[in-house]
Amino acid sequence: MICEECKQLGIPEYLCKNDKPIINTFGQDELLYRRHYCIGTEVDIKDSKDTITQIFKIHDDSYNKSSLSHPLDVLLNDNPNYPKDVYLNYGVIKINVSKLLEVGLHQINNDLRKFTLAPKHIPTDCNYAHCEIHCLVDGFKAEKKPKSITTVFRLILGEMFEVVKEAS
Ligand SMILES: [Zn+2]
Repeated sequence: MICEECKQLGIPEYLCKNDKPIINTFGQDELLYRRHYCIGTEVDIKDSKDTITQIFKIHDDSYNKSSLSHPLDVLLNDNPNYPKDVYLNYGVIKINVSKLLEVGLHQINNDLRKFTLAPKHIPTDCNYAHCEIHCLVDGFKAEKKPKSITTVFRLILGEMFEVVKEAS
């Protein structure tokens, strides 16, 4: 079964949420895909702090779960207010979940803080594969994150991603 909205947006049936369950288990080989509009190769992107800042907002950033979708599905538009092809020229990156789950200790203002990245499966109506990565410090999700904290999370994520498709 596929809903009317998915049908109109050209979303494939496997991405239509309907009654599908939340799957908060992530396998060893599970990947998370994210789209972005930054032009350049993997090396260009990793070398530019500005680009990393644009890709990783550190605000419950959206990803797609690889076991439920194809890599380029993040380029499908599920918002009826935008043109259908709005994301087609975007780039796609991937992150290995097993890397994500390694805890990192980083020094912030002389304190050693524990940085954890927690993937959550949060399906939306027209994107069953939708996930968020929640950023925890000492096990807690900080609503307001000071720059010193977001800088560390960007450093962690900026090191572990790989390019699937370059933006054009
Ligand atoms: Zn649907």
